[in-house]
Amino acid sequence: MFKIHFLGVRGSTPCCNQNVVQYGGHTSCVFFEFDQKIFIIDAGSGIISANAKFNPEIHKTTHLFLSHVHLDHVMGLPFYFPFWNKEHKINIYSGTTKEYNGIQNTLEHLFSPPVFPIPMKAFPAKKTYIDFDAKEQFQFASLTVKTINLNHPNGAIGYRFESDNHSFCYISDHEHDDSYDIDSLIEFIKDTDLLIYDSTYDDLTLHKYKGWGHSTWQEAVRLGEKAKVKHIGIFHHDPSNTDIQLDKLQESVLQEHSNVTFLKQDSCFCIIDQEFK
Ligand SMILES: [Zn+2]
Ligand SMILES: [Zn+2]
Repeated sequence: MFKIHFLGVRGSTPCCNQNVVQYGGHTSCVFFEFDQKIFIIDAGSGIISANAKFNPEIHKTTHLFLSHVHLDHVMGLPFYFPFWNKEHKINIYSGTTKEYNGIQNTLEHLFSPPVFPIPMKAFPAKKTYIDFDAKEQFQFASLTVKTINLNHPNGAIGYRFESDNHSFCYISDHEHDDSYDIDSLIEFIKDTDLLIYDSTYDDLTLHKYKGWGHSTWQEAVRLGEKAKVKHIGIFHHDPSNTDIQLDKLQESVLQEHSNVTFLKQDSCFCIIDQEFK
């Protein structure tokens, strides 16, 4: 059953200073194991922490699901060691790159000289590139992966992972506005155990960032209530948000909403116990 590890919880850019020690500075990456396979959502700089969880004796396959290919969600990709293991299979799933000639072309273009010294084509792992359209589903034994379009510049995909009557959803990066069919998102996340949600901004300041493609913790709470979500994980923190600010927010939000957690890097959520560790 799912044990979901948060390896990077920031958005936009990694950050590293004395004010962000508790919540961490790595960009988006979420990790879990299922049926001896590794599942990773987004390859932000946090993916380097997945290396310590990789055991080549056990893990023969990684399924990497990308929400989209903005830099903060792919920058760590070449630093995931299994890419350098010729026995390892890595399937990369993308729902936003068909119109850019596909995910293989996009990543091979990005990770090539002079930006990266070794062309991605030469990474030894057995790579498979899968371009899909939102609403397509994937099945891995008893695990179902569902997909939905989000509202973000150049597009983004939300995911729902389900198995044995448990589920969690990953909704990042996403801006809530009137142009988006909110009812379909509510239906998509309905009754999930954990909603991981892009909360880069808050309701008071969101107007300054209209069109940037991000949402707020207040919207996470509203959505969570409408969709009867059990737990809400506040994610994709703005790199300028300090530990003190995030702690204060956590404290005040908890007074009214006991199921809301501002996610910290290197924490995890265990679906069986229904708690963060
Ligand atoms: Zn992002
Ligand atoms: Zn983005």
